[in-house]
Amino acid sequence: MPGLPNATEAFVTLVTNPEYGLGAAVLGYKLRAVGTTRATVVMVTETVPETTRAMLAKTWDKVLDVTQLDSKDSDRLAMLKRPELGITFSKLNVWKLNQYKKVVFVDADTMPLSNIDDLFQYEELSACRDAGWPDCFNTGLFVLAPSPDTYKAIMKRACEEGSFDGGDQGLLNAHFSTWSHGDISKHIPFSYNVNPNASYTYLPAYKHFADQVKMVHFLGAVKPWHYQYANGKVQGQNLTEHTRKFLEEWHKVAEMVKQSYYQPTSAAPYVPPMSTGSTKPAAPSSHVVPDDVSSVLSHITAQIKNKEKAKSSMY
Ligand code: UDP
Ligand code: MN
Repeated sequence: MPGLPNATEAFVTLVTNPEYGLGAAVLGYKLRAVGTTRATVVMVTETVPETTRAMLAKTWDKVLDVTQLDSKDSDRLAMLKRPELGITFSKLNVWKLNQYKKVVFVDADTMPLSNIDDLFQYEELSACRDAGWPDCFNTGLFVLAPSPDTYKAIMKRACEEGSFDGGDQGLLNAHFSTWSHGDISKHIPFSYNVNPNASYTYLPAYKHFADQVKMVHFLGAVKPWHYQYANGKVQGQNLTEHTRKFLEEWHKVAEMVKQSYYQPTSAAPYVPPMSTGSTKPAAPSSHVVPDDVSSVLSHITAQIKNKEKAKSSMY
């Protein structure tokens, strides 16, 4: 329900560019369509243009600015072959939204098929098994309790250990490392985070449980917006019947959302807040406290350099 003033629970996603912006617009629209009673919040970085922000403002209750790496750090990280850390760190901003007691984070490439508000009965950190490595949880959907202390602890771990897969999933699985063998009540049923492609490996189960699928997650390199769509049909070979059905549902909503809310001609050119010369976005429109991402990254960079120096002096 839009704009609940005293909402203490929220669905939250992240958007850093127009493509994921369309994904999030579909997700936000669908969350409302399935009748969520929780607030919906999209975190955006300064790289998201005004046209995308406008579309998100129509499909989500709140659009919150969060910090991303500055370009100087991005260059350094690229040199260190870790450019993806920027997006990882942006996702972690969700722990700073402590105006909410509980949050369900959902990737922008997900689509609910029915109401999923019962997820708010779970405690931090609850998630579904990852189809690729089931002892890990998949970070396309997880339940958390925002807390600046937890945020700092995760950032500290990122500094000290990095992430074993280079993204948020490796880092969060290392941080909440008891998940797989700990409290089973933190294991959310797989039907809340189903990758349609994973059904290739277990088609009979997919067919048996198909009616119970509550949320689809289009994980992997090929996203719904990469497919051509015309006359209600998605172009693509080797798609299973249900994958095609989910993609067509996604595109149907995307077309409608674009038609209703995307107005490229009326948009003023977007001026990123960074153009003021500041290393942080100016005047975030949110409750998000500007953070210390730059200094954490400098720390990581220094550590990696030291390690490299130590290594090279061995030979
Ligand atoms: N994301 C984003 N911009 C990017 C990459 C990722 O905003 O360029 C956000 C978005 O919310 C996305 C999430 O980070 O859903 C995780 O990335 P992705 O879904 O691509 O990872 P996968 O689920 O395929 O592992
Ligand atoms: Mn995803």
